[in-house]
Amino acid sequence: MTLRPADFSPPFDARDYVAAPTDPEDERIEVGVLIVGAGPAGLACAIRLGQLLEDAPEVRERLGEVPVAVLEKGKQAGSHLLSGAVVNPRALRRLFRGRKRIDEMPFYGPVEHESVYFLTRRSAVRIPTPPTMKNEGNFVASLSQLGRWLGEQAEAAGAMILPETAAEKLLVADGRVRGIRTGDKGKGRDGQPLGNFEPGADVVGRVTVLAEGTQGHLTGVALDRFGLSGENPQVWALGVKEVWQVARPLDRVIHTMGWPLRAAAKYREFGGSFIYPMGKDMVTLGMVVGLDYRDVELSVHDLLQELKTHRLVRKLLEGGERVAWGAKTIPEGGFLALPKRLHAPGLLICGDGAGLVNVPALKGIHYAIESGSLAAEAAFGALQRGQTPWTPGVLAAYDDALEQSFVWKDLYEVRNMRPAFGRGFVLGGALAGVMTATKGRFPPRDLRLERDVDVELIRTDRAESYPAPDGKLTFDKLSSVFASGNKTRDDQPNHIVLQREVPQEIAELWGRMCPAQVYEAGSTHGDGTVTVEITPSNCVQCGAITAKGGRLTPPEGGSGPEYTLT
Ligand SMILES: Cc1cc2nc3c(=O)[nH]c(=O)nc-3n(C[C@H](O)[C@H](O)[C@H](O)COP(=O)(O)OP(=O)(O)OC[C@H]3O[C@@H](n4cnc5c(N)ncnc54)[C@H](O)[C@@H]3O)c2cc1C
Ligand code: SF4
Repeated sequence: MTLRPADFSPPFDARDYVAAPTDPEDERIEVGVLIVGAGPAGLACAIRLGQLLEDAPEVRERLGEVPVAVLEKGKQAGSHLLSGAVVNPRALRRLFRGRKRIDEMPFYGPVEHESVYFLTRRSAVRIPTPPTMKNEGNFVASLSQLGRWLGEQAEAAGAMILPETAAEKLLVADGRVRGIRTGDKGKGRDGQPLGNFEPGADVVGRVTVLAEGTQGHLTGVALDRFGLSGENPQVWALGVKEVWQVARPLDRVIHTMGWPLRAAAKYREFGGSFIYPMGKDMVTLGMVVGLDYRDVELSVHDLLQELKTHRLVRKLLEGGERVAWGAKTIPEGGFLALPKRLHAPGLLICGDGAGLVNVPALKGIHYAIESGSLAAEAAFGALQRGQTPWTPGVLAAYDDALEQSFVWKDLYEVRNMRPAFGRGFVLGGALAGVMTATKGRFPPRDLRLERDVDVELIRTDRAESYPAPDGKLTFDKLSSVFASGNKTRDDQPNHIVLQREVPQEIAELWGRMCPAQVYEAGSTHGDGTVTVEITPSNCVQCGAITAKGGRLTPPEGGSGPEYTLT
């Protein structure tokens, strides 16, 4: 029997998350521009709006008491941010226009040296750095820390950040986006109100900017509601990373390819690892693997544990201690998977939500910042006297500006690399080389992307070789969830939508894939199906389940991980 996760799609209907405002008009929270998500995209948007409004007091006046608001589901800006992160500073320089220097930003330092290795179980062969992976002029950061700093800059520029607030529904009336409805708080496991119950509220604005990052909940809802999806489906990778306090400083940025991934095309295992220095006494390392993989036994968390047992990596961590852990997906479809449009009446979409990631370079932060900043300029343009942001087409200035920007050019040149690697490491690598040399002119016809859920599953005995956790070098998933700072209360309602009675292989796929041990195969039934048991409070909101057959919706605001170093 052939099995695909797509055959067990979740009982989820995007239309259930679109509503008209319901609070009486005088009880709605009214803001000027409403930004959902305090990541690099949303915060850059808030900062740029602050700059523009500073020079246009009459527009600012018309936007009311709160001209710019940023909603964030994490405890604060940065709490849910996780990245490599080697940052290309180009967009930050453009955003701050000389008002902040690079040495005032929370960077661990410039990339001074870099190495790329091809790994086998017992060897590490240094190979020339592919042009797409060169990092000269870039800086190492923790995105969580950079996000906190950007949050301070956004507040200094006049924005109000509303943390612990999840945007749950898209408010649409008369064909235009009016804002969002926040999720309820203080509910018990079965949805019953507890003593501290707080109902959600309508937050309305003249323009709503969705900057939700990867697997954006309302972004998906908006793409569906306004028919914005592009020709190709979006595809994702899952990244799991750790931060280590180390005895000896690392003097370079390292990327690895090959082991512990398998090269044969039948496995469809595309990805690699990154190892970055964070100052003199910390190192961060992570594994990133495309979610179009086939083996139900594959676990990115365990592959990262296995990677650390390699001589090359073990040596770097010797005498050190793990201090943080986290996981997140990355949209990998790039240019081919971009939505048809990134605007609708009253709405703009930016950053990872739009899919602005350069996969071969593993870079999205500077595109998120640039797109957030361009979204701010388009919103500002549409707020001038005589303009209405909900007139169809008024916000098209954002798409036009993005198409003229370096973001578009970069993504266009590498657009066919991700699908090429679906054909196996060796062929994919060769094709990628020609694509780089021709700056994207080869191949003459674009390749196609296949949804991660449509890939047929296989089973191998891959899990047998995962190392047993020793609590020093290698860790199990539960201690990792603890290291993410996740303190979600156990009696929250379940926020993960999936089919609960599925074949054994599907239950196992989800159980292995989830880095936070949320799913376990429970009792087996007469027809061979099993019940999937869920522990939603473990969830670190990485989004992988949405790519592989379920649907993550935002849990109560303020829950989930509390990242500080990732
Ligand atoms: C493992 C890994 C390594 C990476 N390495 C690099 C690298 O080295 N360099 C690089 O440039 N890029 C890297 N990237 C990509 C980069 O991190 C992203 O492109 C970038 O973070 C996107 O920014 P964003 O603002 O669009 O989204 P995010 O950074 O995801 O921020 C979105 C924010 O919105 C909030 N949010 C989402 N939905 C809601 C909601 N409904 N209500 C309220 N709040 C909401 C989230 O909590 C979050 O704070 C990496 C990514 C990963 C996962
Ligand atoms: S439950 Fe889903 S979204 Fe949450 S950590 Fe696991 S795979 Fe990620």
